[in-house]
Amino acid sequence: MMTGIVGKLFTLSTSRSPVPMEDDIMCGNGKTMANAYFCLLDSIDRDRWVITNYHTDFSTYMGAQEIFDEFFERENVTYGITEIQKFLNSLGKTQNKVWVEGAVSQRRKLGADIIWDSQRVMSVDNRIREHTKVYLIPKKFHKHDGTPCFDEDCMQPHFIKVYCDKPLGIIDPIAVIDCEEMGAHYNTNELCLDNLAAPGVR
Ligand SMILES: [Zn+2]
Repeated sequence: MMTGIVGKLFTLSTSRSPVPMEDDIMCGNGKTMANAYFCLLDSIDRDRWVITNYHTDFSTYMGAQEIFDEFFERENVTYGITEIQKFLNSLGKTQNKVWVEGAVSQRRKLGADIIWDSQRVMSVDNRIREHTKVYLIPKKFHKHDGTPCFDEDCMQPHFIKVYCDKPLGIIDPIAVIDCEEMGAHYNTNELCLDNLAAPGVR
């Protein structure tokens, strides 16, 4: 399965490639935290090998290059890829496009699950968007009074509610994440600095 964690709602839920309302994008709403949370669940509940392009205490760290070069040699892996638009973007090189074609068509056979997040969903490669069937939206709230938080630099304790925009439509959150508990599993200040030159093409 491919799951996208994004910052906002879609205007056209039936469209082939989701169209976000750009003016509604929220910063610092816990996309990477939600990514880590669902990866952690996969490692615990399904005993999956988890590979992430950010450091955690439950996954194997790999940079994007390493992830993509050996992708077709690995089986039954859950990938947590943060800031995916930095590697597989809508203006990507031809060889990256060819790699994406191979990856999306062989993903099921390889038993690969991909959980990606992106602040700017429209920058993500459109084949990735087409093949992503589940879209999740995290929202940040204050622990002490439950009010929503829109401040990226806010130091108060928070929890993250994760809503499923597609295919369920937003009703109740499908997960509530305690930021302090989840934050203990990975470096919340890690910047995604690695890059991708040319994935191995099949
Ligand atoms: Zn806050």
